[in-house]
Amino acid sequence: MTKYPELTERFLKYVKVDTQSDENSETVPSSPKEVAFLADLAEELKAIGLENVRTMKDGYVFAELSSNIDDSAVPTIGFIAHVDTADFNGANINPQIIENYDGQSSIKLGNSGYELTTNEFPSLKKYARHTLITTDGTTLLGADDKAGDAEIITAAQYLIAHPEIKHGDLRFAFGPDEEIGIGADHFDVETFGADFAYTMDGGPLGELEWETFNAASAVITIQGRNVHPGTAKDTMVNAIQLAFDFHEQLPVHDRPENTEGTEGFWHLLAVDGNPEEATLRYIVRDHDRNIFEERKQRLLDIADAFNQKLGEKRIKVVLKDQYYNMGEILKDDMRSVNLAEKAMNNLEIKPIIEPVRGGTDGSKITFLGLPTPNIFAGGENMHGRFEYVSTTVMEQATDVILEIVKLAQEK
Ligand SMILES: [Zn+2]
Repeated sequence: MTKYPELTERFLKYVKVDTQSDENSETVPSSPKEVAFLADLAEELKAIGLENVRTMKDGYVFAELSSNIDDSAVPTIGFIAHVDTADFNGANINPQIIENYDGQSSIKLGNSGYELTTNEFPSLKKYARHTLITTDGTTLLGADDKAGDAEIITAAQYLIAHPEIKHGDLRFAFGPDEEIGIGADHFDVETFGADFAYTMDGGPLGELEWETFNAASAVITIQGRNVHPGTAKDTMVNAIQLAFDFHEQLPVHDRPENTEGTEGFWHLLAVDGNPEEATLRYIVRDHDRNIFEERKQRLLDIADAFNQKLGEKRIKVVLKDQYYNMGEILKDDMRSVNLAEKAMNNLEIKPIIEPVRGGTDGSKITFLGLPTPNIFAGGENMHGRFEYVSTTVMEQATDVILEIVKLAQEK
């Protein structure tokens, strides 16, 4: 009945393997669990008939499918997904399958006491008559991004089984450590050899993302002068107080909890300190590159103003850029975005094109030279126990991959 009988089976097989990445690791990939999973995946890619399957030194598994047409003008297209899961229990995932969901009932997540309700998660109402896959309440599901992995591999398998579908050269990549923000740092764009690519790593049906935040981290260290509080007058410099005063200088509005759309922010992540020494950790985010630069400069200016007033350099700011808005590059080469939009329209899927309030592996890969917007993989409520996915939406994501491939070789 379904067009892709292996898709759900493949997805269920993948999510049962724990592939959580490890932020505190020094190795690449960050966890041996990812390495083992990627090795199995490489074997599977060979078994379904993909060519030139190899593991790159940063952990990515690359694979290829050669063109079956004689037209060198057809672009080489890549599809990319990550295999790691987010910072939430990813061991012993025991997915539940809810067939023919009615679009209104609560779904009990195993015996955990947690449930999915339409009150808390109105998105459930979209899924009447769908088959949903949920967690048992003790883990995340890992549809982010095992759904993307399963969709890409199923699409590749479908093309191999249906040589009557004409396509150009195709490239596939599966990688580690997206969730800890470093997986794509060394993506080998040249070896990958695509003209443009897509990450299959978005959420609900129709998502097509080609604008992301610009992102930086900021660490503010504050040196105090601690003396006995009884004799502190005109002598003590309390580093914690300075930290509070510093934070007060930032506009209250520009915080994550007060912003939406294309509004950027400074997000205070951590405060640590005593009268002698204090540290503030921020992340800085903005879609607009100029405003992003101004936000970073603002932190430096605040520190300067305090240092001048204190007559001593007590506040130090260390900024580190993390990734940039891929829209800056993609706006000059919209082939990939236009093709995906057309593919969705052909399939009667309404494209949802909105700037992402975050980043994607594609943000980094795009700046490494390969335009890479992001397409929905289907997951809802990612990164926690309430994560779920519809098998129908996974099929539609697979359809989008195949439609892109077909459209790209049409004149
Ligand atoms: Zn993801």
